[in-house]
Amino acid sequence: MQGYIRKMRIDILTIFPQMFEATFGFGIFKRAIDNGLVNINPVNIRDYAHDKHHTTDDYPYGGGAGMVMKPEPIFEAVAAIKSGLKDKEANLPVIMLSPQGRLFSHKIAQELAQQSHIVLICGHYEGVDERVAEHLATDTISIGDYVITGGELPAMVVADAVLRLVPGVLGSEESPLEDSHARGLLEYPQYTRPADYQGWKVPEILLSGNHARIAKWRREQIIKRTLENRPELLDNAELGLEDKKLVKRMMDKDNKIHIDRES
Ligand code: SAM
Repeated sequence: MQGYIRKMRIDILTIFPQMFEATFGFGIFKRAIDNGLVNINPVNIRDYAHDKHHTTDDYPYGGGAGMVMKPEPIFEAVAAIKSGLKDKEANLPVIMLSPQGRLFSHKIAQELAQQSHIVLICGHYEGVDERVAEHLATDTISIGDYVITGGELPAMVVADAVLRLVPGVLGSEESPLEDSHARGLLEYPQYTRPADYQGWKVPEILLSGNHARIAKWRREQIIKRTLENRPELLDNAELGLEDKKLVKRMMDKDNKIHIDRES
């Protein structure tokens, strides 16, 4: 029996479709596209503007600085995508990239990776006419509490984080389950050759060949690192008895983190 291969399509509405060639035309994503696992489809919003200048923005009502992206070309571009689908009524996720959206995370990437098809909308200037958020988008996502000039980089971040979770996109030797955030914690430190670089040595244990001890060391490093860099993650992480003991040992009686650098 042939195995079931799950594919994912992402349409990206943008005024700069060429930007996506640079990101997805190489390495892991090129291989996934060539293997038919992934379809990344930049859609030029200008193609859906009807005037001879292909205008996609206009002055804001009420005055103020900057321009606002017009609603009609965006609505029409999404309608064109939907008209090509078998089930036109399907609940196609249409996601706006905006600093006002819910904060992107591994959990949201996992949610989106369950979908077979999503649409991302990249804004520019002062943003996108609010009617797109009100009547077209099903979700709004922010990549962080800061503002950048356009939605293309956020769309790349979201597409990258989602697509690498689609089974088969990463090579079999790489597992997204071992990565930081996949299980709510940060990953252990990684080393490669040389074992001694300018006197900075790779931890002895990693050269020992003792897989059980290496696994124990790595688990300790995961806890240590998370406690040092992102202690709030431990509140929701699944910790075993040994993990909890370790956390306790690393906290002093005033609940301050106290990490023994030697261990
Ligand atoms: N005036 C808008 C505001 O204050 O909310 C910001 C507009 S921003 C200059 C232009 C576009 O860049 C946005 O429409 C959005 O698509 C994208 N963008 C900027 N920062 C973002 C972020 N943190 N997350 C997701 N998209 C962002």
